[in-house]
Amino acid sequence: MFDHEGRIALVTGAGQGIGAGIAKCLSRDGATVVCADIAVDRATAVAATCGVSARAVALDVSDRAACDNLVDDLVAENGRIDVLVNNAGINRDAMLHKMTDEEWAAVLAVDLSGPFFLSRAVARVMRTQNSGRIINIASASWMGNIGQSNYAAAKAGVVGLSRTMSKELARYNITVNALCPGFIETSMTKSLPENIFAAQLDKIPLGRIGKPEDVGDLVSFLASERAGYITGEIINIGGGYQI
Ligand code: NAP
Repeated sequence: MFDHEGRIALVTGAGQGIGAGIAKCLSRDGATVVCADIAVDRATAVAATCGVSARAVALDVSDRAACDNLVDDLVAENGRIDVLVNNAGINRDAMLHKMTDEEWAAVLAVDLSGPFFLSRAVARVMRTQNSGRIINIASASWMGNIGQSNYAAAKAGVVGLSRTMSKELARYNITVNALCPGFIETSMTKSLPENIFAAQLDKIPLGRIGKPEDVGDLVSFLASERAGYITGEIINIGGGYQI
């Protein structure tokens, strides 16, 4: 669909769900995809479906040194990084008055510090290349959602981070955008109680839950040359969930 031939793309949380869908769409469109996940076995299985050039790496995005080391390794191997997709994320939902310090800190570490660590390391490389695409997976919840004060705060942080990076990096021909998926079929949503799942489905005008590839196709477009004039955007992808 898009021509990513010869381009190197790093996708975090690529072992399942939306990240796996993104990895598959980017590789289908010709990119060499590095599938990073804390669960390396799952990332290896996904990489096996992404063509011979794809590979899996173990990565905890909340580990700053691991992020820096991975970026150094990729540059040593490939000489460049063309696309970074900050997708890895977790939720630890609880009402504010019951939320523990651990639940707060865990979500902020993975969902906000992770994208910061990797974007900072990759931006240094992309600046010298004078090209690059950074795509951050935020969430519809950034606008606020009951039981998700940690997650909403992290995702709102991702929106602010993305907009700021887009301003700082535009002069180096690097675009930065944030995507806000609505309700997508992954382990994150499959574990919801039946009544909450049904209520979420009811909010989708297009009448179906999203597929990881729905997000993957949008990422592949934004990663392409054809999206070179789109930066700093916060793009909803939810079948109308956010209308
Ligand atoms: P998922 O099915 O849980 O997949 C996320 C992957 O990231 C898992 O393989 C997970 O491993 C991995 N991961 C967790 N912590 C990590 C870390 N510290 N470092 C590296 N990898 C880590 O989730 P998803 O539903 O695909 O969500 C992907 C992204 O989309 C997240 O940022 C999420 O917030 C966002 N999103 C999802 C939805 C939705 O409806 N599904 C809606 C809006 C936004 P483990 O399973 O071992 O934790």
